[in-house]
Amino acid sequence: MKLELPELPFAKDSLAPHMSSETLDFHHGKHHNAYVIKGNELLEDAGIDADNLEDLVKKCAEKGGPLFNNVGQHYNHSFFWNSISPNGGGAPGGDIAAAIDASFGSFDSFKTEFVNNGVGQFGSGWVWLVADGDSLKVVKSANAETPLTDGLKPLLVCDVWEHAYYLDFQNRRPDFLASFIDNLANWDFANQNLAG
Ligand code: MN
Repeated sequence: MKLELPELPFAKDSLAPHMSSETLDFHHGKHHNAYVIKGNELLEDAGIDADNLEDLVKKCAEKGGPLFNNVGQHYNHSFFWNSISPNGGGAPGGDIAAAIDASFGSFDSFKTEFVNNGVGQFGSGWVWLVADGDSLKVVKSANAETPLTDGLKPLLVCDVWEHAYYLDFQNRRPDFLASFIDNLANWDFANQNLAG
């Protein structure tokens, strides 16, 4: 299989002022696209194939190096575009609301843990809401790493690489993470993943 840059599932100017179209021009059009191009070159060199992206990521994780970094970043970014929405943010509805209350005590406690993990990821990486069996957890990952390779089910992700927020928030990563939860988090996508 070949990696393909997905279309953004929202209009590029629809997330402003929380995420500007300029950020998306660079982040989707340049950064993500570069991972797709390089990943396809390295996949061809390595002769690795799979039936779906999740299995491809797991195979590439066994190899590590630039191959995993590029394929992992393609998976993480594709998941991220679905994790944000112009209709997102605030407290969720559906089954994820009850699951968050059961695992974190309250939505506010979840938000605090999510923001703190995103702030605490030193350097580049990601902060995830995942399902670990019946309970939900917040985990962070460095660079291209993904909880998919740890047997966890990703539900929602926020990119905390500086390219995700620097044009809109400069160095204020805590504000970007709070804004992600308050204004962008796509709980419909998280509910679909929880059910899937
Ligand atoms: Mn990114």
